[in-house]
Amino acid sequence: MGLKILEQFHDAELCRGVLDRLRQELDGELRFMEVCGTHTVSIFQSGLRSLLPEGIVHLSGPGCPVCVTHESEVNAFIELAGRDRVIIATFGDLMRVPGNRGRSLKLAQAEGGRVKVLYSPFEALALARQNPNHTVVFLGVGFETTAPAVAATVKMAEDQNLDNFRVLALHKTVPPALGALLDDPGCNIDAFILPGHVSTIIGTAPYGFIAERYGKQGVVAGFEPLDILRALLFIARRRRQGRPEVANLYRRVVADQGNPRALEIMYEVFEPADALWRGLGLIPGSGLAFRQRYARFDAGREFGVKVQETPPLPGCRCGEVLKGKLNPNQCPLFEKACTPAKPVGPCMVSTEGSCAAYYKYQVG
Ligand code: SF4
Repeated sequence: MGLKILEQFHDAELCRGVLDRLRQELDGELRFMEVCGTHTVSIFQSGLRSLLPEGIVHLSGPGCPVCVTHESEVNAFIELAGRDRVIIATFGDLMRVPGNRGRSLKLAQAEGGRVKVLYSPFEALALARQNPNHTVVFLGVGFETTAPAVAATVKMAEDQNLDNFRVLALHKTVPPALGALLDDPGCNIDAFILPGHVSTIIGTAPYGFIAERYGKQGVVAGFEPLDILRALLFIARRRRQGRPEVANLYRRVVADQGNPRALEIMYEVFEPADALWRGLGLIPGSGLAFRQRYARFDAGREFGVKVQETPPLPGCRCGEVLKGKLNPNQCPLFEKACTPAKPVGPCMVSTEGSCAAYYKYQVG
């Protein structure tokens, strides 16, 4: 079975060589976590997981922005959708994410809530111009990959004197979440495959603490099976040499310094703030809040939105799945009460969620 999978890879011969070297470099169990939904899908879809040498333990982390959107945040979206003269503008992948009482934006829309699905935050500006008697609230959800475009949209709204456009600023930043995972002794992570897309924005420096403070490995990697295998080989080799390091093996896309212009725009509009993550709880400095200069675009301030810890969805083990403490198929609801057609938790809603990937590719 493993050989058949390998033959399907574009770079089968190279992958075989890297796998052989990986076996030689491995000294004891190596627990690695990917923290990017695209890596999650790539690892499951390609069958790579079943090819990994014995001793390599793959953990899926909180790399799907929809999955880490907190129940309490979803409740706030639904509540805002029911307000008079408010239109919620959102990416489509948030529509089916459940809040605390099993409600979702899709359900709120079906019940008459004003919710518009957009493909880009910039479309929200046109929506605001078309609806001058309403306030358009764009749901600012996602990681560093999304936040600069939302910040640029806010600046455009200012330039255009649009006074009925707002953003609910709930973006999350990846490096503090990695610190929280490393601080949790129950997670027991040796190395991270670092997110390709987020890294195009932030570069490699913000991950330096992984090696410096925790003595662990981190590699920015591409999404092909060969990219992931090379990252694992690098990690295994450095660990055997006793050299913790954060490295960039995705230079064809990611510059070490990231995208300075995108970072400049993001931090002109937003500043670091604490954020609540589904499953991970409150992580200091892991969010982005409006700076005072742009506060008039802040939907949270205008509508008094409060995001706070709430009990998790009954029976759903997404919190443990997102921390790599539980495989999705170990959740009692997996494939029974919870399927992509009828998801109980967000990890089954998003196509990049671990539970959905397990289900779709039937990982044993
Ligand atoms: S299988 Fe469903 S209920 Fe269980 S952790 Fe995954 S999303 Fe939550």
